[in-house]
Amino acid sequence: MDFGFKGKVAVITGGTSGIGAETALAFAREGAAVVVAGRRESEGSKVIQKITDQGGRGLFVAADVANEEDVKNLFSHAQKAFNRVDYVFANAGIEGHVGVASDSFTTENYKKVFDVNVAGVFLTIKYAVPLLEKSNGGSIVVTSSVAGMRGMPGMSVYVASKHAVLGIVKSAALELATKGIRVNAVSPAAIETEMFDRFVSPGGEEAKEYMKSLHPVGRVGVASEVAAAVLYLSASQSSFITGMNLPVDGGFTAK
Ligand code: NAP
Repeated sequence: MDFGFKGKVAVITGGTSGIGAETALAFAREGAAVVVAGRRESEGSKVIQKITDQGGRGLFVAADVANEEDVKNLFSHAQKAFNRVDYVFANAGIEGHVGVASDSFTTENYKKVFDVNVAGVFLTIKYAVPLLEKSNGGSIVVTSSVAGMRGMPGMSVYVASKHAVLGIVKSAALELATKGIRVNAVSPAAIETEMFDRFVSPGGEEAKEYMKSLHPVGRVGVASEVAAAVLYLSASQSSFITGMNLPVDGGFTAK
């Protein structure tokens, strides 16, 4: 399938590892120039090297999505380097403290998680939209989670942040619909990434097996499976889809 990404430019926050890195490589394979953002320069450079090795074009910009100046700088660098922005994947996210019940709430954890997972998405949209308008439209995909669609004990701050971004997606989609800018979400279940490792490593093999058993397909997902959904939601093949959430979850939310 030709996604029509040749000559187009994608900006990916949280592109230094996991789902974001895999999506950056996928966009580049399909011909888009890719701007990869994250805080870790070493990891970002590795992703750009892989893009270049594939024959693609990429640029790493160090940016903390919770910092407005960084996000502003990210999009101005993208515009300067490639002269346009067509696709934005607002994917940066952190889990914060897990295994902490709601009645052990700390404002410190809440602030940290919401600054990245929620304010980070608002800021990304804020600085992306003027450039997408300049390109006569485009697409924004935001990473929520099955945690944005379900309650999960011991994770309520993360769960609340991922519910929040689905609200942003629906509202922004309505605001931008007549400007040719579509806004959608992907909601992965457990995907093998650094974040997943942080979740399961304290529980070892037993925790991994338990995670698999939560998914009707009998396994956890891999980042390329989320990347494929992001590419579809970015491309013109999904031109009549906006304000939607696409679970990439091996049947998790079908239960
Ligand atoms: P990951 O490998 O830990 O990736 C997280 C990414 O977010 C990294 O690139 C990280 O880059 C970036 N990031 C974190 N804080 C940031 C900040 N303040 N500013 C800019 N970038 C920041 O884990 P992942 O699983 O791929 O996570 C990607 C997204 O998927 C997250 O939104 C996560 O909530 C969501 N998700 C994951 C799963 C799963 O099971 N893996 C399931 C559902 C949803 P730096 O450290 O370089 O800043």
